[in-house]
Amino acid sequence: MTESSSGPAAEQWDAAVAAVRALGGDAEIQLICHVSPDGDALGSMLGFGLGLRRLGYSRVRATFPGDFRVPDPYAEMPGLELLVPEADSFPEPALVLVFDVASESRLGGLAALVEAAPVSVVVDHHASNTGFGTIRLVDPHAAATSVLAEQLITRLGVPLDAEIAECFYVALATDTGSFKFDMTTVAVHELAARLIATGLRPGDISRRIFDTKPFGAMKLAGEVLGRAVLDPAAAGGLGLVWTYATLADLARHAQPPYVLDTLIDPVRSVAEADVTVLVKEIADGQWAVSLRSKGAVDVSRLAISQGGGGHRLAAGFTGHGAAGDVVDTVRRLLDDYLT
Ligand code: AMP
Ligand code: MN
Ligand code: MN
Repeated sequence: MTESSSGPAAEQWDAAVAAVRALGGDAEIQLICHVSPDGDALGSMLGFGLGLRRLGYSRVRATFPGDFRVPDPYAEMPGLELLVPEADSFPEPALVLVFDVASESRLGGLAALVEAAPVSVVVDHHASNTGFGTIRLVDPHAAATSVLAEQLITRLGVPLDAEIAECFYVALATDTGSFKFDMTTVAVHELAARLIATGLRPGDISRRIFDTKPFGAMKLAGEVLGRAVLDPAAAGGLGLVWTYATLADLARHAQPPYVLDTLIDPVRSVAEADVTVLVKEIADGQWAVSLRSKGAVDVSRLAISQGGGGHRLAAGFTGHGAAGDVVDTVRRLLDDYLT
C-alpha cells in the first residue's frame, strides 16, 4: 500500500468503514488523540466521536494521555462530554481510533491500549508518521487530520451538522494557521465552506480560539518575546531566532503550559531568520522544543533525528539539559543538515 499525494488507498478507506460497520451499537469504541492536544487533535477526535453517536453507537469514549486539562480556547468545543481521563478509557475496546498522532511516543501510557486492540485505525497527516496501527488513513498532504476525519465520517454516511462541523472547523483553522499556510488549498476552502454552511460563525470561533487570552498570558508572552535572541550567522547564514520559557515563568504568571503553544508564531515572523526555535520547559531539565522554518530547512528531519517528529516546516522533539544546550544542539543539527 502506498500513501501517495492522492491520499490513503481505497482499500484502507474501505477497511476503516468496514471496521466501524462490523460493530454492534453497544460495542466499546475508544478514541485517542495526542498528548497536550491542540485544536486539530481535539477537533478531529470529538467531531468523529459525535459522528459515531449520530450513527447510534452509544459507547464512545475519547481521551488523551498525560495532564487531563482541556486548554481554555477549546473549553466550548462540542463533544467534550465524550472526553474521559486516560485512566477511564475502555480497558478492552472493540475498536480504537487514533487522531493526529505521528508516533506511539505521543500516546504515552495509551500506546499499550492501541497495541492490544483487535483493530486500530490511525487517522493522521504527519509525514513523520511511524506506521503504527492496523488500518492507516495517513495523508501527509492533508492540511489537518480533520480533513481525513471528515472524509471518514462522510463515507460512513453521517451528514455534517453544526456540532460536528464546529469541531472540524476548529481543527482546520488551527492547523492551517487560520487558512494562511501552504497547505491551504482549494479543497481546504471548499471543506471550510461546507462546514460554515451548517451555520457556524467563523468570527466567534476565531475570537474564542485565537484572539482571547488571560492578562497573565499576555504578560508572560511579553517576557518570553523580550528575551528572544537573533543569530543571523546560524544555519549557514539563513538565520536562527530563538527563545525559551521555563516552568518558573509559567508559575510567576500563574499560567498553564498550553498558553505557550502559539507563542512561536510571533517569533517566527522575524524577517532575519529562516529557522525559529522555542524551547519550553516541561520538567526539570526536560524541554519541549518547537521548530519552524520559512522553507529553506526541513525541520522534521532535525526533529526525527532527536526522536521527535512533525512536518517539513513545523516540527518538534523533547530536549534535555539547559535551554542553551538544547539550542546549541539545534544549531549543530542545522550545520550538519546544510553540509
Ligand atoms: P509544536 O511545535 O508543538 O506546535 O509541534 C509542531 C509539530 O511537530 C506538530 O505537528 C507536532 O505533532 C510535532 N511534534 C512536536 N513535538 C513532537 C514530539 N516530541 N514528537 C513527535 N512530534 C512532535
Ligand atoms: Mn496536533
Ligand atoms: Mn494536525
